[in-house]
Amino acid sequence: MTIYKNLIAGEWVGSDVTKNINPSDTNEVVGLYADGTTEDTKNAIAAAKAAFPAWSRSGIWERHVILKKAGDEIMARKDELGALLAREEGKTLPEAIGETIRASQIFEFFAGEALRLAGEVIPSVRPNIGVEITRDPLGVIGIITPWNFPIAIPAWKIAPALCYGNTVVFKPAELVPACSWAIVDILHRAGLPKGVLNLVMGKGSVVGQAMLDSPDVTGITFTGSTGTGRRVAAASIEHNRKFQLEMGGKNPMVVLDDADLTVAVEAAANSGFFSTGQRCTASSRLIVTEGIHDKFVAALTEKLQTLVVDNAMKPGTHIGPVVDERQLKTDTDYIEIGRKEGAKLAFGGELINRETPGFYLQPTLFTEATNQMRISREEIFGPVVSVIRVKDYEEALSVANDTPFGLSAGIATTSLKHATHFKRNSEAGMVMVNLPTAGVDFHVPFGGRKGSSYGPREQGKYAAEFYTSVKTAYTLA
Ligand code: NDP
Repeated sequence: MTIYKNLIAGEWVGSDVTKNINPSDTNEVVGLYADGTTEDTKNAIAAAKAAFPAWSRSGIWERHVILKKAGDEIMARKDELGALLAREEGKTLPEAIGETIRASQIFEFFAGEALRLAGEVIPSVRPNIGVEITRDPLGVIGIITPWNFPIAIPAWKIAPALCYGNTVVFKPAELVPACSWAIVDILHRAGLPKGVLNLVMGKGSVVGQAMLDSPDVTGITFTGSTGTGRRVAAASIEHNRKFQLEMGGKNPMVVLDDADLTVAVEAAANSGFFSTGQRCTASSRLIVTEGIHDKFVAALTEKLQTLVVDNAMKPGTHIGPVVDERQLKTDTDYIEIGRKEGAKLAFGGELINRETPGFYLQPTLFTEATNQMRISREEIFGPVVSVIRVKDYEEALSVANDTPFGLSAGIATTSLKHATHFKRNSEAGMVMVNLPTAGVDFHVPFGGRKGSSYGPREQGKYAAEFYTSVKTAYTLA
């Protein structure tokens, strides 16, 4: 079997390997991927540091061409890369191809942004002095990504980092190295100079930690759990380093009496259960007003009965497996916690056997949940959703905001008044009206508030806030 190695200073290196296992069929090894060491990480950081002066002064056309080539190749290979993604992570093939297309679009967007880099020229308050405001790249960016979006999240961090003239040390989640390896290979062949983009696959506690500990990493962009995010923050403050964190969610979707029932059920089923509920923007709390509650629960339960849980590669599968055994245990532990807390198990909750051995779990719906239960407060990150009954819109808004998180929030209503009020008063970074809380555009800001995010937004033009540092220059004319 081919061993997929780390890319350090333009060379493919590494001898220790880990197996990448398909969660839809645990007999299948997707590939053997390098298991990087602290030494590898130090070498990668040194290579990125050495490559920075030249890359930070490279022409915008060179950056445009490389990012565009990468976007074009990802799009041309969307079916193959989508299949690789579905096999390593377990989201369904159509979802995985969709994510791959999105990665391509992100590279295309930042290829365009490279040509639009600009500053400002402003008159001074003093005579005969000119003021220029420009954006400088930060330096070496450490990129640490989670397992649930194996191609889109690496794309939305690598593309802007390179676009704005930074060099990169990239550590993907150990569970899903295949798509990360593929996009690094594509960018390397697209003509990136040696050391500009370095890939170190391996464990967070080894590779990630070595990145946190290095004074030569000038910025860290992290997506993952709240616990690891706090470690990134503490280590970064110690090194006086810029950092950006995207972490968990416990996203509410409010359903009001006046909602279009079909729209509400489709949005709840999609954002609660698709991608096996393993999206940071998934709706895991459905907050439903009294008048529509029973109708909504009945219609959603009926919808859940039609959803097929099976091998991610099989045509007709709506929900793939849970990503691994550890996450499956977390999900089933929370199902037990929900039962013990007194919520009613309205649907699912059982493990399922399929033709291929995998981590299959029924979509699980709790009703009669309260917002104080652990299943309503803590992120589960699986296909487990609770319904919380409320009296009216005012109570719904208050319950929606009563959470330590603040990533995404949704409302299903036909009332312009309530939709407008919710958009203004939701304490989430992203608000959806009559849409799933998950599923966002690639060219606009992404991020949350409270315990979900820290630092500038990702994606779109707003990405420049993190990947650059503003400089103000004064010149005597
Ligand atoms: P983790 O925090 O466990 O891992 C995220 C990344 O951090 C992985 O690459 C991991 O490496 C690495 N890591 C682990 N320990 C350290 C360390 N000591 N130092 C540096 N890096 C480390 O999260 P998961 O991968 O389990 O992802 C799931 C979580 O991500 C969920 O909570 C979810 O909500 C959140 N998420 C948030 C998103 C957002 O944009 N807000 C989007 C997607 C997910 P490894 O696993 O290889 O050991």
